Amino acid sequence: MDYQDILNEIYEKVMSFKDRGIPASYIPELAHVNPENFGLHLRFNTGETYGVGAYHTKFSIQSISKALSLALASSFKNNEILKRLDVEPSGHPFNQLALLEIEHGIPRNPFINSGAIVIADILVSKLKNPKQDFLDYVRDITGDDTIDYDYKVAQSEKDTGHKNYAAAHLLESFGNLKNDVNEVLDFYFHQCSLHMSCTQITKAFYMFANRGKCVLNKTRLTEQRVKRINAIMLTCGFYDEAGEFAFEVGLPGKSGVGGGIAALLPEQFVISVWSPGLNKRGNSKLGMLALEQFTSKTQLSIF
Ligand code: GLU
Repeated sequence: MDYQDILNEIYEKVMSFKDRGIPASYIPELAHVNPENFGLHLRFNTGETYGVGAYHTKFSIQSISKALSLALASSFKNNEILKRLDVEPSGHPFNQLALLEIEHGIPRNPFINSGAIVIADILVSKLKNPKQDFLDYVRDITGDDTIDYDYKVAQSEKDTGHKNYAAAHLLESFGNLKNDVNEVLDFYFHQCSLHMSCTQITKAFYMFANRGKCVLNKTRLTEQRVKRINAIMLTCGFYDEAGEFAFEVGLPGKSGVGGGIAALLPEQFVISVWSPGLNKRGNSKLGMLALEQFTSKTQLSIF
C-alpha cells in the first residue's frame, strides 16, 4: 500500500471542505491560531514515517497531554490512581462539574478535567520540580530537547480557567486533592500548554503502540500499564464523542481543544493530526474526518 498517496488523497479531500469547524476561544490565546492549518503524520513501528501538510508546525496539544501525564503518574509505585479515579466514560463534556459532585469527588476517568487535575496532584506530590520534571519526561520519551511549554497559553488559561479552579476546589472539598489548588493548577495549565508538532506527538505516543518502549528503545511503561492506558484512550479519549470516534475511526487515542488528535494501533503505528477547527463536542472536525478516511482506506483499525 502506498501510504504517502493515501495521506495526499486525504489532504486534498479535507482541504476542499468549507466548514472546518471553529477553533477554541475559551482560552483566549488559542483563538489566534489560523484555522486553515492542517497537518497529518504517520509513524509505523518499523520506523517508516509519512507526513502531509503542516506536520512540522507546533501547536498547543492541550488534553493530548493527559495521556502523557497519566503515563508518568502510572509509572510510580503506590500511585493511588485507582483509589482516587474511576475508568468509566463520562458521557458529559470534559469540564462538567455536576457529576463530580454527585459522585463525591471521584472523577469518572483521568481524561476529563477533574480526573486530569487529580493526576496533576499526584505528579505534584511525586516530582521534585513538577513542571521541569514533566517536561524532561516528554523530552526523554521523544528524544527531543526542543519541546517546551507555551508560557503565553499557560498564562492565558491561568487567567481564565475558572471552571478548572472550581473543579480543583470541589476535589479539595471531598479530600481528593492533597496539594495547594494554585500549585496543582499551575502545573496542569503548563502541562496542557505543551507546544508540539504532529511529528513530535507521534514520537511521544510511540510507547503506547510499542509495549511501553519509547523511540530510543528505553522501557518507560510496563505492558500491563500500556494495555490499561490504551483502554482508557479508547473509551474516554474523545470527550463525550468516544463512542462516535470508536465507530468512525476505531483506534484508541486522545484529542485536545488545540485541534490535535493522537491515535494508535498497538504493534503497528501512531498517527497524529492537527486542524484547529473543532466540532460541537470539542474534537477537531477535519482531524476526525481524516482519521476516519485513513482507517477506512487502509482497513487498519483495532476492529
Ligand atoms: N487545558 C484545557 C482545559 O482544561 C484542556 C481542554 C482539552 O483540551 O480538552 O480546559
